[in-house]
Amino acid sequence: MDQFIRKHLTFLNTFWGKCLPNGVPSNHSLDLWDPAQGSLHPTLDPDPVEPMVSLFGVLYDFTARSADELSVNRGDKICVLREEGGYVLARRLSGEALVGYVPANYLSKISQDETLTQQPWYISGIGRNKATLLLLSPPNRHGSFLIRDSESNKGEYSLSVRNHAKVRHFRIYKHPAGSFYLEKGHTFPSLEQLLAYYTINWKVIQSPLLQPCIQKRAPETDQWERPRSEFQLWRKLGEGCFGEVWEGMWKNTVPVAIKIMKQADMRDDFVKEIQNLKSLKHTRLIKLLAICSVGEPVYIVTELMRKGNLHSYLNSAAGQELTTHHLLSISCQVADGMTYLEEQHVVHRDLAARNILVGDDLACKIADFGLARLLKDDIYSTTSNVMIPVKWTAPEAAIYQTYSLKSDVWSYGILLYEVFTYGQCPYEGMTNQETIQQISRGYRLPRPNSCSPEIYSLMLECWKGHPEDRPSFLNLRDMLFSIYKWTHHPFS
Ligand code: AMP
Repeated sequence: MDQFIRKHLTFLNTFWGKCLPNGVPSNHSLDLWDPAQGSLHPTLDPDPVEPMVSLFGVLYDFTARSADELSVNRGDKICVLREEGGYVLARRLSGEALVGYVPANYLSKISQDETLTQQPWYISGIGRNKATLLLLSPPNRHGSFLIRDSESNKGEYSLSVRNHAKVRHFRIYKHPAGSFYLEKGHTFPSLEQLLAYYTINWKVIQSPLLQPCIQKRAPETDQWERPRSEFQLWRKLGEGCFGEVWEGMWKNTVPVAIKIMKQADMRDDFVKEIQNLKSLKHTRLIKLLAICSVGEPVYIVTELMRKGNLHSYLNSAAGQELTTHHLLSISCQVADGMTYLEEQHVVHRDLAARNILVGDDLACKIADFGLARLLKDDIYSTTSNVMIPVKWTAPEAAIYQTYSLKSDVWSYGILLYEVFTYGQCPYEGMTNQETIQQISRGYRLPRPNSCSPEIYSLMLECWKGHPEDRPSFLNLRDMLFSIYKWTHHPFS
C-alpha cells in the first residue's frame, strides 16, 4: 500500500519519506541526550519543506464515493495533510495508511494537549530527576517508559526509558510545522506515532519500549476532601440508588446530610454525581459541602433539607395542608433551578418530585441532577438496558432515548401534576407500557382539582408531542412567576 501511495501521490514524496519511514535506517546509533552534555543534534535546523500536519477526530461515518475519497468511521483519528475547499486530504492513523479526501465538516481538530493527557505514557509536571526515580521504583521495570515535558526546552518533550538499572533520557524535537523527531529525517505527526516507530525499531535507541510507566496515584485531595472523623452520623433519612442518606453533624456544629456509598463498584457513578455537584452552583440546586473519599465507604456531604423529598412531603400531613399559593411557590422554585441548568446546557433526565428536596420555609432544591436513573424498580423500567422512569419521561426519550432540555420540560409538566395533586402518582392504574401507548395516541393527564386552567395550560404546553413546540424553562419560570405574583397581590 505504501508503494501505491508513493506512486500515485508523488507530490507528497518528501512527506512520505518522513511520515512512513521504511524500516530502520542504517548506521543509526542514537546517543543519549543529556542537557548537561548538550543536544544529540546540536546543529539540526528544522527542515524547511516539512508539510503542516494536524490531528483530527472523525465526528461522523463517511463512506468513500470514489477512489480518491477515504472512508472513515466516527471516533477515528486521522492526520490532515492539507485542506481543499470543503474537503481535506487525510491519512488514516490506524490500520492501513490509506490517504484520500474527507469532507472537512465531518472532522474536528484535536489539540496535542487533548490527546496527550489521555495517554498512559504521558506524565505531566515531572522533570528528569523525578522521572528517573519513578521509573526505577516498583512496579516499573526494564522497558518502562514515559514522555514528559522538557525542562529546558519549553513546548518540547523528553522520552525517558528504563534500561535495566539505568534510566535514559532522549530529547524529542518539535518541528515548527508541528511534527516530532528524535533523529533528523524521521519525523512523525504525533508522539503516539513516534513511540510506535521506536517500539518496533528500539535498537535505534538501544532501549526497548516495553510498557508505559505506572504512576502510583496519591489519593485524590481537593478543597472538598475532609477527614471522616469530622462527621457524626445521627439518624437515617432515606435510601437511594447509591446507598443510605443520613442526617449528621459536621465538626459538632453544622447539621448536614451524608450520602454513604453502599457498593465500591458504583464508585464511578458516585464520582460523576460529585463532579456535577462541584461544578453546578445555584440556590435552587442542592449544595455540596464536603467529601470523604479516602478509604471506604465514600461520603458525599450536602446541606441538610429537613423536610426530605418533595414527593413524600406532599403526601405528609403537613404537605396536605399546603395552599395553592404554596404549590405555586414550589413550582416557581423548581423552574428557577431548571432555568439555571438550561443556561448551563445540563439535562437532568430524572426531574420528578422524588428528586426535589424540601428545607425549612418550604425552600426547594433540585437534587440528583445528571444521573440518578438507576434501580428504583417500581418507577424505572428497562428499555435497551437503560432504566428509565417511564411515566416522567418524554415519549422521544422513553422510546428513542433522545434526551434534551425539552424532554426535561416534559418531566417538569409531570412534576407540576404531582405538585397540584399533592403527590399523586401520574397515570395511576396504568402500567408503563399502557402509559406509552396512551401518550402516543394523544392522551394527556387530566387537570387536577386544585390547579387553575392557566397552570393546566402550562402543563399541556410541556406535553406537546414535538419537543421544539414545548416552552423553555426560562419561559415557564417567567409565566409562573407572573401567575404567582398575581395570586399574591392581584391588583399591584
Ligand atoms: P437519593 O439517594 O439522593 O435519592 O436520596 C434518598 C433519600 O434520602 C431522598 O429521597 C431523601 O428523602 C433523603 N435525602 C437525600 N438527600 C438529602 C438531604 N440533603 N437532606 C435531607 N434528606 C435527603
